[in-house]
Amino acid sequence: MGRNKAPDSLKSSVESVVKMKEETVSRLYEELDEWNFLGEEAIFWWRDDDAQSYTLELQKLLDLSNKFSVPVSLAVIPQGLDVSLGADIDPYPLVTVLQHGFSHQNYAEPDQKKQELGSHRGAVAVLDELCRGMSILNDEFGEAFCAILVPPWNRIEHSLVSSLPEIGYKGISTFKPRKSMEAEQDLWAVNTHADIINWKSGRAFIGESSVIEQLTAHLKGKRLGVYDAAEPTGLLTHHLVHDGEAWNFLSGLLTVMDEHPAVKWVDAKTAFQVRWR
Ligand SMILES: [Zn+2]
Repeated sequence: MGRNKAPDSLKSSVESVVKMKEETVSRLYEELDEWNFLGEEAIFWWRDDDAQSYTLELQKLLDLSNKFSVPVSLAVIPQGLDVSLGADIDPYPLVTVLQHGFSHQNYAEPDQKKQELGSHRGAVAVLDELCRGMSILNDEFGEAFCAILVPPWNRIEHSLVSSLPEIGYKGISTFKPRKSMEAEQDLWAVNTHADIINWKSGRAFIGESSVIEQLTAHLKGKRLGVYDAAEPTGLLTHHLVHDGEAWNFLSGLLTVMDEHPAVKWVDAKTAFQVRWR
């Protein structure tokens, strides 16, 4: 995959690279060295959630993707989509668009975990909205859109999942190691495994050591056969809530991963390994 340079006008928004702590880097490198020793590539993919319009934060994210030639999959919310987003991301060839529910509205009771795609409404209503959302994203993004559902809050009512292939979905992505390659017949699952935000503590950056721990735990689990070794390790980001520390970390992480020979980043189409269109 060739290196794509960010347009000159956008370069200034890329954060200067801040170095990660040496001990943190060596923890990641120790695991990656094991992969290298085995002659295996450690496959990663990057999912970023909640895009609806072209903000400065989204521009910053896309510039990082460009700078390091790392493909990024944007989970886009169809309802309220800014209709210029397709044109705005067009200069970024490493972007794939996934579907992030329909409205990202929470239908759960206050004492329940947040959920858009739950059992709070009839299945027909939920699936009908998802179809509308798919059509909106297909029209706006064309070839850049892949029919992969990213349920808001990474939650979906189990009984809805079996209907997803029937309405055109090829894949689903949530959080935590997948239990099997297919969530349902003809519905591939590729999840994310390292979240850089601490949602329980004011949506702050979760910290360098926590992200590295999440990444290395998944890699090690795959290497030792605890998890499905064929599932790419997923980095999860949310550009709209990143603080300065989160941006600096992301830049530092991409830098150190770029320098290790075992690391291979793939786009969503490769991660899901399904035949598209
Ligand atoms: Zn979300």
